[in-house]
Amino acid sequence: MATIDDWFDERTLMELVPIDVYVRGASAVENGAVRVIERDGTKLLTSVEAGSDVVGAEWSLDGEQLTFACTCGAANERPCEHLIASALSTWPGEVPSQDE
Ligand SMILES: [Zn+2]
Repeated sequence: MATIDDWFDERTLMELVPIDVYVRGASAVENGAVRVIERDGTKLLTSVEAGSDVVGAEWSLDGEQLTFACTCGAANERPCEHLIASALSTWPGEVPSQDE
């Protein structure tokens, strides 16, 4: 059974969005802008700092269908940079533990 993590490899993500969106998402992760709120095999919910705002970026897997939404409003046909940041934050070592 596929899990949502299967979608979050570099090649798949780079095919989903233009390179500039990918790069902005990657730099948001490097800057520590992403917080994972909820994550399981079919869902990833995060908050992402976007300038002075914080947006909510959510991926979910419904059967074989991957869906996404972001409160910034830019994620329509394709994911926005916040969603890319959200996906990249699942990679091991990308986001420090928040348990403090
Ligand atoms: Zn967004």
